[in-house]
Amino acid sequence: MILTLPHNEKKLFLHVCCAPCSGRIIERVLDSSLSLTVFFYNPNISPETEYLLRKKEVVRFCKKKDVSFIDGDYNHNDWIAQTKGLEAEPEKGKRCDVCFFMRLKKTAQIALKNHFNIFATSLSISRWKDMEQVHRAGQRAAQKTPGTLFWDFNWRKDTGEEQGREISKRENFYQQTYCGCEYSSKKC
Ligand code: SF4
Repeated sequence: MILTLPHNEKKLFLHVCCAPCSGRIIERVLDSSLSLTVFFYNPNISPETEYLLRKKEVVRFCKKKDVSFIDGDYNHNDWIAQTKGLEAEPEKGKRCDVCFFMRLKKTAQIALKNHFNIFATSLSISRWKDMEQVHRAGQRAAQKTPGTLFWDFNWRKDTGEEQGREISKRENFYQQTYCGCEYSSKKC
């Protein structure tokens, strides 16, 4: 199904957490003849070798699809500082609120700097995440960054997640076994 952006905008700034979550989203956006730039900003991921592996897969797919890619900083120490005191929180808890907001606030700022008004994230496609929690973080990030709008599209609709799994298989993406930070354990 063809996607239509809010206000009939024609370009999207997409925060991407990993290749398995973003493959289907990237293909849908391109199939809708929208201009797309991918932003990889995930300072939550630990250890760094895992971060580099996930990033490499996203870069590989962006190159294949001829999609612009912007690399965010890997400031894991900042992430640790911002989530201090929340180490024992369960997944979908307060630590994840901070983690989502940190990533999406930076996304909104870099979107604006690159003349994009609409941003979205691949974080919400996974059934291991609380979609509403991700959307609340995106909306807060947009409120703090005047001139931007968070697009809270439900990527799981129309068998989005299942199709994403098929693309992952087809592209032979690296499949991570945990959300990302050193405190996460659940398979995602
Ligand atoms: S479990 Fe995932 S979303 Fe939650 S804080 Fe860790 S990396 Fe971030």
